[in-house]
Amino acid sequence: MKAFAHFCTITKHKKLVLKECFRVGLYKQGLLHDMSKYSWTEFRVGCRYYQGTRSPNNAEREEKGYSSAWLHHKGRNKHHYEYWIDYSLEGPNLLAGMKMPVRYVVEMFLDRIAASKVYLGDAYTSDAPLAYYENGRADELMHKDTRELLEKLLHMLAEEGEETTYRYIRREVLKR
Ligand SMILES: [Zn+2]
Repeated sequence: MKAFAHFCTITKHKKLVLKECFRVGLYKQGLLHDMSKYSWTEFRVGCRYYQGTRSPNNAEREEKGYSSAWLHHKGRNKHHYEYWIDYSLEGPNLLAGMKMPVRYVVEMFLDRIAASKVYLGDAYTSDAPLAYYENGRADELMHKDTRELLEKLLHMLAEEGEETTYRYIRREVLKR
């Protein structure tokens, strides 16, 4: 029943992101978020390496040395900064993170909130996504403007809560 369990996991996350996206008016992105997880290439890996406690991509990576599902996923979903890695115009053959359109930075932010809510359940608080972000490595491949906006939103959420942050996103970030 790994297939069913995996289906439930990705659908639960998708529904939560949809709810958060609709709150800031990103209707189309809310509906299409992570749709490629239902494609055969990604879904098959999700079932085969289903763990229940962590991403199946990590298990696939450990076994094969790379994750085919993640490579497929990040190439198709614009809310991942890895989608925006391209050859820099500055150095020869240097890969760098390009500046992301703000609506995808917002989707990335909401994705993190949804993931923290599922992971922590009743223990979720508004400062959890920031704590998670600060725990991970600060990735050099994220464009500095993209990182600045993401960090600003994470801090605002931790200090002032969802209502204030979502209002700021609707009125300031997405209106510009
Ligand atoms: Zn995704």
